[in-house]
Amino acid sequence: MTLNIDSLFRNADPIVSEILNNALSEKEISAKDAVTIYKTKGIDFHLVGLIADELRKRRVGNIVSYVVNRNINFTNVCIKQCGFCAFSRDFREEEGYFLPTEEIVRRAKEAYDLGATEVCIQAGLPPDMEGDLYEKICKEIKKEIPDIHIHGFSPEEILYGASRSNISIEEFLKRMKEAGVDTLPGTSAEILDQKLRDKISPGRITVKQWEQVIKGAHKIGINTTSTMMFGHLETLEERVNHMVKLREIQKETGGFTEFVPLNFVHTEAPMYKHQLHDGIKQGGSGNDVLLTHAIARIIFNNLIDNIQMSWVKEGQKMSQLLLMWGANDFGGTLINESISTSAGSEYGQMIKPKEIRRMVREIGRIPAERNTNYKILKKFETENESEEGLDKITDYSQFGSYAELIKINKFKYKNPREK
Ligand code: SF4
Repeated sequence: MTLNIDSLFRNADPIVSEILNNALSEKEISAKDAVTIYKTKGIDFHLVGLIADELRKRRVGNIVSYVVNRNINFTNVCIKQCGFCAFSRDFREEEGYFLPTEEIVRRAKEAYDLGATEVCIQAGLPPDMEGDLYEKICKEIKKEIPDIHIHGFSPEEILYGASRSNISIEEFLKRMKEAGVDTLPGTSAEILDQKLRDKISPGRITVKQWEQVIKGAHKIGINTTSTMMFGHLETLEERVNHMVKLREIQKETGGFTEFVPLNFVHTEAPMYKHQLHDGIKQGGSGNDVLLTHAIARIIFNNLIDNIQMSWVKEGQKMSQLLLMWGANDFGGTLINESISTSAGSEYGQMIKPKEIRRMVREIGRIPAERNTNYKILKKFETENESEEGLDKITDYSQFGSYAELIKINKFKYKNPREK
């Protein structure tokens, strides 16, 4: 029998075809349907990608957005020991660092002067932290650079700040808003399944608390991102239940700006390095990563327009492929990246805007700079563009690296009790 395209498509599984047809007709996909399409192979696998790409086109067209930002992970000292985290250090360890507020502001200003519109601030939870540290940081940044967008403080940090200040999460969120926080990263979610969290990160923010922070933020007009860390111990059911939970929150609040699947970086992660759990994986495979982005697009269709991939975790060429599998956002320039780098990711700590634009054009799409809330600031329809700001930098060493941070004396963590 001679195969042609029609006969290939006729070989598609009827159940998978029905689910994907429903998605194309803008119907909601159930958790059970999502698990079914997660298990596809052959032509069915490719169909999942095709449908996700079609939905991406309907929602956001051919634009691929990115944000010019800088990460400031101001301390790696943390009272918790999440099994997947290679970034944190106990306060007694040599490699503990802590950036003073003046240095945080200096870094924010340096990035702003090079065209950054956002600083992303996340860190460990240092012991005996002053309850108003986060507020002070935000106020100092805004005093110096009123226009910069502060995207900062994960739900875990919000919970910690509230508990160090002896006030409710809701009250703390209000204080953070007044201090200048514009949006929160929807990190510390991993997989929102309590049993699994108790296994991979005992003592971490609970599912209930995570939801309380996120909904509390949305309620007072602080948008957040949403994320999922996958490719470790979780089942497909736990993944899709996680995404469906986020979808339900979005229906209620509308406060998620994007969803970012984060592939587990295993190399230096303690729970992988020390083989703490049977069956722990080395992150999602290439096919798994493609499916995860496509399924996210299908699950969140009509509710969360932006699916971001992580170039830090997937590398540049895989990122290009993901833009054909449901993703539409390239994330940020970062300038400094410590979390994935410490876990063993090898794709660097910074990417220039012009590099992002080149990669986007290579796959026939239109690059556009956005702000944190996805307002398009500038479309780059032609290649004629002047090099400015971050694009002109040739020597990255001026920004300092994660490897330097954990070695230099200047920023070494000092326990306040010993001062
Ligand atoms: S993930 Fe966050 S809370 Fe957990 S150990 Fe790392 S820095 Fe601490």
